[in-house]
Amino acid sequence: MHHMTLAEIARGLADKKFSSEELTKALLARIAQLDPQINSFISLTEELALSQAKAADARRANGESGALLGAPIAHKDLFCTQGIRTSCGSKMLDNFKAPYDATVVAKLAAAGAVTLGKTNMDEFAMGSANESSHYGAVKNPWNLEHVPGGSSGGSAAAVAARLLPAATATDTGGSIRQPAAFTNLTGLKPTYGRVSRWGMIAYASSLDQGGPLARTAEDCAILLQGMAGFDPNDSTSIDEPVPDYSASLNGSLQGLRIGVPKEYFGAGLDPRIAELIHNSIKELEKLGAVVKQISLPNMQHAIPAYYVIAPAEASSNLSRFDGVRFGYRCENPQNLVDLYKRSRGEGFGAEVQRRIMVGTYALSAGYYDAYYLKAQKIRRLVKNDFMAAFDEVDVILGPTTPNPAWKLGAKNSDPVAAYLEDVYTITANLAGLPGLSMPAGFVDGLPVGVQLLAPYFQEGRLLNVAHQYQLNTDWHTRPPTGF
Ligand code: GLN
Repeated sequence: MHHMTLAEIARGLADKKFSSEELTKALLARIAQLDPQINSFISLTEELALSQAKAADARRANGESGALLGAPIAHKDLFCTQGIRTSCGSKMLDNFKAPYDATVVAKLAAAGAVTLGKTNMDEFAMGSANESSHYGAVKNPWNLEHVPGGSSGGSAAAVAARLLPAATATDTGGSIRQPAAFTNLTGLKPTYGRVSRWGMIAYASSLDQGGPLARTAEDCAILLQGMAGFDPNDSTSIDEPVPDYSASLNGSLQGLRIGVPKEYFGAGLDPRIAELIHNSIKELEKLGAVVKQISLPNMQHAIPAYYVIAPAEASSNLSRFDGVRFGYRCENPQNLVDLYKRSRGEGFGAEVQRRIMVGTYALSAGYYDAYYLKAQKIRRLVKNDFMAAFDEVDVILGPTTPNPAWKLGAKNSDPVAAYLEDVYTITANLAGLPGLSMPAGFVDGLPVGVQLLAPYFQEGRLLNVAHQYQLNTDWHTRPPTGF
């Protein structure tokens, strides 16, 4: 049962081949058996899952249908779930039970999805290896000595290990696409404002966006359909109609203009990944796409700009965790300042503290212009590059990451080395554009992703290209050995 995709599950449920309750029990047993190897869950919600599964079966028995009705999923542990621990991977929120459901959680529950649990993540979504979690590192099911990517590493590892068909995730600088690439999944970061951030614990509010992680583009379409839409509770949510994403999958790629930025193939890219990307381009050309070289001249400035803006916003967002209102409080505070200092010093891990310090520094009166304002100007240049490119092409294609998944611990002593691995993903967040990563082959037995970017609100186009590619390739169907 565990090999089924969301689409296959929907068909099986509709044809009464099995019930949601049977499927849920089977997957919960599989999680209990296999998750100790990869540590992809922070919390399991067995009782909730079984009651949601029974309710979904009852709704189907009453004649209701829907692709998510009875479908098992999990939520990254930064989506608030009412009455259930929502830890954000941090000791700071280890004891925090959210008082309400995030909009994404409520929407998916209303569509009949079954929540198996909350997935592991880098602390406060800061990282690209899922090693900074208070609950321990997540292992990559493709090679247990390697990282699964981050910060949505738990969602990715769980889906890759066939513990469940799909999961929610978030992407501030690549945290959906990069773990998708590292674990052979398809992951979509929607246009900023497409998916509500209400109840999604903030890291960097102008960059954060929720989206689906699944094995196929078809499944990403199904999950995104359940997540997307205007939310009056989120002031940055955009009031645009949500198209039928599944209906967009089957368009022809004849004449599709694919832009390949020359800057993507410079030093730093593993040549074996470059070769796989070129193979995927050839595959899309066979389907009728036309390839054109383009340029994104300001890409080189994106990493420094991102690593000023994201920490700046984080330093502001995380000021609410003060030992008073949420989560962790130190023992025996001597006075208010002592309470703040020790609650934050003991509750936050090293990477979170580093980001808060960098962000506070960049926002301080004397340095604001030199760092934060400068970074915002670069952000606009990055966006302008994309706008110029999309005058000429329909999608932009390149590698998702410069290297495959590294070994656990390999970059722990050098945070900047890890930041540099985000080079291909962060530009989409700076510009607010949608991006997708899909499987493109393997290097040393580790998965490689190809990234597609599209103009605002063209999620359907990304899913269309990825689905057509997946109808003609089989990388995405391959499971990791042992799972
Ligand atoms: N690796 C990036 C960071 O650490 C992106 C993380 C994310 O997208 N949440 O900020």
